[in-house]
Amino acid sequence: MTGEALIVLENVNKWFGPLHVLQDVDLSVARGEVVVVIGPSGSGKSTLCRAINRLEPINSGTIIFDGQPLPAEGRALARLRSEVGMVFQSFNLFAHKTILQNVMLGPIKVRKEKAAVVRDRAMSLLERVGIANQADKYPAQLSGGQQQRVAIARALAMQPKALLFDEPTSALDPEMVGEVLDVMTSLAKEGMTMVVVTHEMGFARHAADRVVFMADGQLVEQAAPEEFFANPRSDRAKDFLSKIL
Ligand code: ADP
Ligand code: MG
Repeated sequence: MTGEALIVLENVNKWFGPLHVLQDVDLSVARGEVVVVIGPSGSGKSTLCRAINRLEPINSGTIIFDGQPLPAEGRALARLRSEVGMVFQSFNLFAHKTILQNVMLGPIKVRKEKAAVVRDRAMSLLERVGIANQADKYPAQLSGGQQQRVAIARALAMQPKALLFDEPTSALDPEMVGEVLDVMTSLAKEGMTMVVVTHEMGFARHAADRVVFMADGQLVEQAAPEEFFANPRSDRAKDFLSKIL
């Protein structure tokens, strides 16, 4: 189920010094849509994700989220960040807080919500990602796959309008990749708007509404997964797929 645009990038450019890492990027993500971003290392995928929740300022162009241009700073920026959850390759959990505390922290600190309300929501999210029985443990006591599921629960605790994933399974041992992709697949089915940078082509095939292929800072092509994988148009995409499939 997809609806009107939730995230719109128009003519976005970003340089790191002389390096033109996002080149006239146009991308629109509809509410409820799952967009998988693939491409070679260094093509600008992480920068694209970081630009969407303004961890990285852009040099020109516009990014609209939920009808509003991205705020540059202050309260509006904090609110944007709480509406766009992000899950990184490294789970970034607080080592000295329990799993439950990790999930509760954002809503309490950033949103000033009541602890009792947040606790109930956090527990049901831990239930949803299959780790409720680990709530009182510390991150180091969990496997990588479990920690990444906690990171997803933590992002969801802020009740975001969209979730960005930047290679969420790349740091995991192979046997743990599936449990994280399963959680992501169920979120996708429940209608969460998601932008997912990943090398997991199985996930792209089965969960994506659209695959976007990036190379050298450009969105080279985008298509429904079945079309993209069966019939990549650009030489860059053909070359990339021949190396990973
Ligand atoms: P990807 O995620 O596709 O591997 P990135 O968005 O991380 O690509 O990086 C795109 C390009 O920008 C790469 O050449 C990378 O080295 C460069 N880059 C990324 N972050 C920075 C930074 N903070 N300063 C300078 N160059 C950067
Ligand atoms: Mg990256």
